Amino acid sequence: MGLYDTFGRLHDDLRVSVTDRCNIRCYYCMPEREVRFGPREEILSFEEIERFVRIAVTLGIRKLRITGGEPLVRHDLPVLMERLAAIDGLEDIALTSNGVLLEKYAAPLWKAGLRRLNVHLDTLDRERFREITRRDELDRVLAGIEACRALGYRVKLNAVALKGVTEDDIVPLARFGREKGIEVRYIEFMPLDAQGLWDRGKVLTADEIMALLAREISPLEPIADADPRAPASEYQYVDGGGRVGFVASVSKPFCLNCNRIRLTADGKLRYCLFAIEETDVKSLLRHEGGDEEIARRIADNVRSKWLGHQINTAKFVPPPRPMYAIGG
Ligand code: SAM
Ligand code: SF4
Repeated sequence: MGLYDTFGRLHDDLRVSVTDRCNIRCYYCMPEREVRFGPREEILSFEEIERFVRIAVTLGIRKLRITGGEPLVRHDLPVLMERLAAIDGLEDIALTSNGVLLEKYAAPLWKAGLRRLNVHLDTLDRERFREITRRDELDRVLAGIEACRALGYRVKLNAVALKGVTEDDIVPLARFGREKGIEVRYIEFMPLDAQGLWDRGKVLTADEIMALLAREISPLEPIADADPRAPASEYQYVDGGGRVGFVASVSKPFCLNCNRIRLTADGKLRYCLFAIEETDVKSLLRHEGGDEEIARRIADNVRSKWLGHQINTAKFVPPPRPMYAIGG
């Protein structure tokens, strides 16, 4: 039993996007204007999401992450969270958010059963935050992080690292994380942006960031008991200052350990962030597909999974959807 692909990888981690909409406009994800959102009626309802997750859990999914777009712009998200947290067999639920609305939703989400959050923050500099996200919302993000800490959430920060843009933010963010006891995860810029701006020269690599942290703060050492299937490689500061993570999708792809599948807000199942093909489950959820048939589609999707994306080869083709329409 379990969702194995043809390369023997077991899949127990599901990411569900609850919306493709967002309240900011990070340039490495969304276009500035004229964002093309899917029609609202195409977005899965709470009932459809819950049913899908229940079926996935019977197949061996144990970890769930809610994402988007910005999941907190989905109306009544705590109601969905409460339903999902009550699913037997699910061992872990987390949320990825840009933090803008967290001050308002941290408490209702806690009440609904959420305990783990990744908050997306690339810089502590207000002007650079505005440049990157095209919105002036840094203060609200920081207030959201504080609200989560006060409630006792386990918080991590996601920082997209961009050559020529955020070099000066790496060290201040790391210091902020050390001071607050929050792990910062630096994410390499991936070719998933809506405007096709990505090129290899704009990737600030994990090795470059580690060298900078070692020079400016403290040397790092790998964490011995880190989960080998987690997307981030985890390190700790040798001086005892806590942990830091690196998602090196471009410079050191970790496809061989992948255990994740993704459901888009409009009900398409994807075995990889970079997948070109997807499996339509919405039509089954809406038009009398039985649970067994949906389970079969999930298993088939996993079985058709490729060995890995080809970012580092000439064969690489960017996926037809940008990050906000997939769910990171
Ligand atoms: N809106 C939420 C947020 O920003 O955290 C959740 C969805 S967002 C698509 C998920 C994560 O994707 C973000 O935390 C951001 O770090 C990451 N991301 C977006 N575009 C990216 C890109 N082109 N390369 C690498 N990471 C990206
Ligand atoms: Fe919105 Fe997240 Fe994309 Fe930024 S990365 S535009 S916050 S969905």
